[in-house]
Amino acid sequence: MLKSISGPAFAGLLSCAVFGAWAAGPGAEGKTVSPTLGSEAREHLKALTALDTSNPPGNEAKAVDYLKARLDREGIPATVIAFAQGRSSLIARLKGSQGKRPLLLVCHTDVVPPEPSEWATPPFEPVETGGYLYARGAADNKSMCAAMLSVLTHLKRSGRRMVRDVVFLAHADEESGGAARHLDWLLERQGRELEAEFALMEGGNTVWKDGKVAEIRVQTAEKTYLDVILTSRGSSGHSSIPRQDNAVASLARAVARLSEYRAPAVLTPMVKDFLVRQSSLGDAEVRSAIKAVLQARPNELDAAADGLEAVSVDFAAMLRDTITPTMIKGGYKANVVPSGAEAVLNARLLPGAVPAQFMALLSTVVADPSVTIRAEPTAAPPPGPTPADTELYKAIEEAASVEAPGAPVMPFMAVWTTDAASLRARGVKVYGLDVPLSDDDGSRVHGKNERISLAAFDWYAQFLSSVVEKVAVR
Ligand SMILES: [Zn+2]
Repeated sequence: MLKSISGPAFAGLLSCAVFGAWAAGPGAEGKTVSPTLGSEAREHLKALTALDTSNPPGNEAKAVDYLKARLDREGIPATVIAFAQGRSSLIARLKGSQGKRPLLLVCHTDVVPPEPSEWATPPFEPVETGGYLYARGAADNKSMCAAMLSVLTHLKRSGRRMVRDVVFLAHADEESGGAARHLDWLLERQGRELEAEFALMEGGNTVWKDGKVAEIRVQTAEKTYLDVILTSRGSSGHSSIPRQDNAVASLARAVARLSEYRAPAVLTPMVKDFLVRQSSLGDAEVRSAIKAVLQARPNELDAAADGLEAVSVDFAAMLRDTITPTMIKGGYKANVVPSGAEAVLNARLLPGAVPAQFMALLSTVVADPSVTIRAEPTAAPPPGPTPADTELYKAIEEAASVEAPGAPVMPFMAVWTTDAASLRARGVKVYGLDVPLSDDDGSRVHGKNERISLAAFDWYAQFLSSVVEKVAVR
């Protein structure tokens, strides 16, 4: 999953977590860290990031084989679901008393293909240096797989009585970018095994700054993905005789209009709460633009949203349905006017937005009968947000107060899209709870020299363990 993180630039960090000396070794937050939990999680992370699971083609079975062997060794039953040559997903279950419905821990094992020539070190040869682990998947998302495996095996070894099953899903094919989600296929096929009250997965934003966790943004909702396809028609012919009805020109005008268009700003209650929290964090310029949004009267909100966009495109995208051009094609020869041209723009709609209404608005913006406009997919309306007053959300807050004292925990609407929607649509209360990344770390996700701070990773394994214990152990 690609995302960017708002906040001042990361100033540099040397790892300070010491696992070899647990009794005396404080972690990044001054908390003691279980030595085997942390060291095993690191071992899993290194092993998993050494496996090339670039998607395409995937080859996630390599990662699944590793996870299965580790789970077998611990006596935790796991099912492997193979769906293509070299490709599989895994579901493991640690049984509880079943007094409460299961907690699902979800990660994905595939990664986006790296461009090795751009990397300082080979992407599938994890390198530990300067307090970081560098490798493709170090942040997205093998760090979560490694931490989840470690948490599960430690829970098993502890022999503690559990009030609910903890189910671990390490799934393939998250990075395909296609409309058809592997997770939906899995839910269709293995729906009963994946039935759960709660799920934890990627999609939130945990901010790592100056060697510690600064904020925990828990994803409780996300925008809806929509592709908008423009097709223009005009007279074809020889380019020596210009005509007004040129399909390339009319398409270009339509793309430009939509690119400049700003949908009406909306301050949903959830985004308002988030911005209230942010109005006392971060740099002064952003804080003041946020305050202008919060204080704006209805007729001033658009201007205030524009002001926020000038200093934080990330936060501004939370206030509007957005559309941005991504692909354009037309013509095949320099001296031939083509009869048609096509462009794709990617839209992201706020929760509750009606796609048909958005499309009607876009048609009035394009206002050109030679350009037709349609949407793909015409998906079901998005599920509502996950409430923030649940047992699991409270567990996150409690764990954070111990593991990251002073770091605010807040519900967060992601402007990106994750698999969370598939689970939310089935009534699972899903929270995006990510490994901590700095601004700089976040910019490397899906890019070159991907990395994770080892102190941040150690912190995450411990934090996740604490959260899971609070809801799963009696
Ligand atoms: Zn991801």
